[in-house]
Amino acid sequence: MEQNVKFLPTRSKSLLQSDDLHQYILETSVYPREPELLKELRHITAGLPRARMATAPDAAQLIAMLLELVNAKKTIEVGVFTGYSLLLTALTIPEDGKITAIDINRETFEIGLPIIKKAGVADKINFIESEALPVLDQLLQNHENEGSFDFAFVDADKVNYWSYHERLMKLLKVGGIVVYDNTLWSGTVAMPDELVPEFWKPGRQFTIEFNKLLAADPRVQISHASIGDGIAICKRLY
Ligand code: SAM
Ligand code: CA
Repeated sequence: MEQNVKFLPTRSKSLLQSDDLHQYILETSVYPREPELLKELRHITAGLPRARMATAPDAAQLIAMLLELVNAKKTIEVGVFTGYSLLLTALTIPEDGKITAIDINRETFEIGLPIIKKAGVADKINFIESEALPVLDQLLQNHENEGSFDFAFVDADKVNYWSYHERLMKLLKVGGIVVYDNTLWSGTVAMPDELVPEFWKPGRQFTIEFNKLLAADPRVQISHASIGDGIAICKRLY
């Protein structure tokens, strides 16, 4: 019994074993640095039924640093929800930066849109209401888009992560970065199958397969960080 307890999927918003430690990180290093409007969007989102979908603020802080390190100007966002990671990106890239943001659901994007407008960064965003895969394929039909994106953040349907990766390996420039979210799937990737609650199983399977493929992909340098729900940071090498 005791042995099984350690395999329960994490119920907190962090993979850290101690919620207090997670709270310490948020309160010491993340919340004091979080831009006011991003904080406002986080609070609005917290009142929604699917609030857990929003990107973890500590992971978002790391994403902002990566955006700055590669001087990201042209980016792709797959999976917008109310726009926490989108607003973070829009606030981080320069004035003339552009984000192609894709989501099948415009309604949730519109919850965050007034805050994005208040932040004065709506002009940087091209929101496309669609399945992401055809949009990425369409981008690739214009050869000028090949190797032209500095950064991508993928946080949508896990079943398509590898298909997104194949497209992004063409759209990103060499040295560009793609970050995949939820790659530890509440810790279930390391749980024995028989202990995984049914609800987590499909996403867990896709995630395990994706992580394996990514680890074997020579086109990318990888860092699999156990922040948020796990993020796989990949730099395109060639
Ligand atoms: N990054 C967001 C944030 O910081 O709030 C959270 C994204 S949420 C986890 C996942 C989003 O992916 C949802 O808004 C959902 O509508 C969208 N989505 C799911 N399947 C999709 C698909 N095939 N193409 C595009 N968007 C999709
Ligand atoms: Ca996510």
